[in-house]
Amino acid sequence: MKTSLIDIRKDRDTALAEARRLIADGSVVAIPTETVYGLAANAFDEAAVRKIFEAKGRPADNPLIVHISELSQLAPLVTEIPEKVRVMAEKYWPGPLTMIMKKSSVIPDVTSGGLDTVAVRMPKSEYARAIISACGVPLAAPSANLSGSPSPTDAQSVFDDMNGRIPLIIDGGECEIGVESTVISFVGDTPTLLRPGGITVGMIESTIGKINISDAVLNRLRDGETAASPGMKYKHYAPKAKITIVKGDFEKFYNYVKDLDCFVLCFEGEEGHFNNAVTYGKADDSRSEAHRLFSALRELDEKGAKTVYARCPEITGLGLAVYNRLIRSAGFNIIEL
Ligand code: AMP
Ligand code: MG
Repeated sequence: MKTSLIDIRKDRDTALAEARRLIADGSVVAIPTETVYGLAANAFDEAAVRKIFEAKGRPADNPLIVHISELSQLAPLVTEIPEKVRVMAEKYWPGPLTMIMKKSSVIPDVTSGGLDTVAVRMPKSEYARAIISACGVPLAAPSANLSGSPSPTDAQSVFDDMNGRIPLIIDGGECEIGVESTVISFVGDTPTLLRPGGITVGMIESTIGKINISDAVLNRLRDGETAASPGMKYKHYAPKAKITIVKGDFEKFYNYVKDLDCFVLCFEGEEGHFNNAVTYGKADDSRSEAHRLFSALRELDEKGAKTVYARCPEITGLGLAVYNRLIRSAGFNIIEL
C-alpha cells in the first residue's frame, strides 16, 4: 500500500476531503493531535478498527480512545455521564484529557478491547477536531507508532513506522504537548488516574477533589496482576537502545557515566560534557521535556545508540507524565546515586 502525506497547514481542503473519504471507506488515517499523532478509524466500524490493531501490531485486549469534536457526541457513547465528568469536560475539554465511562452498545467490543467501558477524549488540536468533524463520526485512535515503540510527535516519525501500512498521514507539524493524554477512570466510586499527561493531578484535584492514583503509574505490574488499563502491562515507548535512568544531581551523573562507552539522554546545556548526547528539554521545565522526550528516544535509535544513561526528570506536575513514559522506555531500569 502506498502511504501519502498531506500537510493540513498548506492544503486544508484536500486533507479534510481525503480523510473524510478514507474514513467513510473503512480505512485508517494518521492524524495530528496536540498530544501525539493518532491512528484513526471510524469508532463504530469494527472492520475499520481492526485495521488499526493490524497496522500497529497492537494486542487486541488493549482498548482505543474514542475522539470526539463536540460535546453532543459523548452521550450516545456511554450509559450515563457522571457529574464529575461533566465538570471536568466543562473545564478541560477540548484538551489532553481522556475519561473512561461505562460504554453503550454503539461501541463495538473491538474498540473497547472487550471491556464494558469506553475511553473518550476531545482533542484541543484544531486540526484533529476539524478532521473528526469532517468525518462526521467519532474516531477511535491510539498513538500512531508500531506497538511498543515511542509515540510519534511529528509526521516523519509516523511515516517511519507506518509507511506501507496505511493509505494517508495528515501532517499538522510537531505536536504541542508531546506525551499522550491524561487517562482517568470514572467507573468506580472515586476517580482513578490510570495514565498521567497534560492535565496534571493538581489540576484534576483542584476541580473534582481527591482522586486515586493507580499503582501502575509509577510501578511495574507484578506477574499475574491485572491492569486497570490494559495498556499498562505491555512493553511501551521502548527504543532499540537499553536505557538506564540515573537518579542524582548532574555532578553525580557525570562522574558515573564519564568513562563509560555509552550515549547520554540529558538536558539542554549539559550535552557539551559528553561525546554522544541527545537532549530532551530543559532541567526543571517539564513542558519542554514532554515536548521532546519521544523524538529524543527516536533520535537515539537513528544515531545507533546501544546503551543509554538518562538524566531523571522532576516528577511533579507534567513531570509525572514524563517520568511515567521514561521509566517504561527504560524497562524500569533505574539507578539511584
Ligand atoms: P494509546 O491509544 O496508545 O494512547 O493508549 C490508550 C491507553 O488508554 C492505553 O493504555 C489503554 O489501555 C487505555 N484505555 C483505553 N480505553 C480504556 C478503557 N476502557 N479502560 C481502561 N483503559 C483504557
Ligand atoms: Mg500508545
